[in-house]
Amino acid sequence: MKVIHQSVYAFDKANAPVCSADVGEVLLFQPMDCFSNKLVSEEMQIADVLATGFDVANPAAGPVYINGAEPGDVLAVDILDIRVADVGTVGTMAGCGPLADEAELRVKKVAIKDGFAEFNGVKFPIDPMIGVIGTAPAGEPVMCGSPGLHGGNMDSKLIRKGARVYFPVQVPGALLQMGDIHAAMGDAELCGTGVEIPGEILVKTSLIKNFELNMPVTETATHWWVNACAMDYEETLKIASEELCRLLMNVTGWDKTDTYMYMSIQSDVQINQACKPCSLFMDLRFGTPKLAGFKPLIG
Ligand code: CA
Ligand code: ZN
Repeated sequence: MKVIHQSVYAFDKANAPVCSADVGEVLLFQPMDCFSNKLVSEEMQIADVLATGFDVANPAAGPVYINGAEPGDVLAVDILDIRVADVGTVGTMAGCGPLADEAELRVKKVAIKDGFAEFNGVKFPIDPMIGVIGTAPAGEPVMCGSPGLHGGNMDSKLIRKGARVYFPVQVPGALLQMGDIHAAMGDAELCGTGVEIPGEILVKTSLIKNFELNMPVTETATHWWVNACAMDYEETLKIASEELCRLLMNVTGWDKTDTYMYMSIQSDVQINQACKPCSLFMDLRFGTPKLAGFKPLIG
């Protein structure tokens, strides 16, 4: 099995692949945490690590060149497992999130044991998820700290073990990379960090040839979720609903108005990440239950 531990800090078609892999090969990614494993003590501040800017934030392991993937295809990534280290880190950042003005700058280490995390004596089950995952954009590079239509820092807590995530392939080989594991994170990631932690991600890819997909989609046991980001809620919801509407119309054969009405009564908006202003984007997922009696939305 190929093990990928080398990191990059941008989604960039010019990044040299760490290795190539065939479709269906199981791959083990071993990313550092979002601080490049440099935030080693509660005496430090996040700014100590990120003093040089966000270019050391959110390393992603990879990229892997997927043999046979070409622009216009869709790369499906099955998240087979996520294993985390035994200690994670949460911290506040200056100006980050809605309570930033009232909060001190603080870093806390969070111990992980037997599937539980402990914060101030409160134990809760971990729910490991992948913050940063995607393929290289066709255009300008995008830093790993940003979300985009290629994926990137989507921070969807549904991207956990058992999920399948679909990405548009924009460059030959797709250039798959991932990192920013959270042992736990709440929707919106209020102060800008989850339980940031190094770990291992086991995935398996598959390829759908010549399928139009304009942004990443997460498939869970019960739902399809379009992941979208733009500058504000209205714009993000618009691009997410346009994409979900298009995908639904493809399989149902309904017209736009029927599909619009169906989405209004069955589709849900959930926030991935919205800790402005440290993230410029409103990042959400718009999902719909799987439809019995119809083809899958993608595939
Ligand atoms: Ca993140
Ligand atoms: Zn993170």
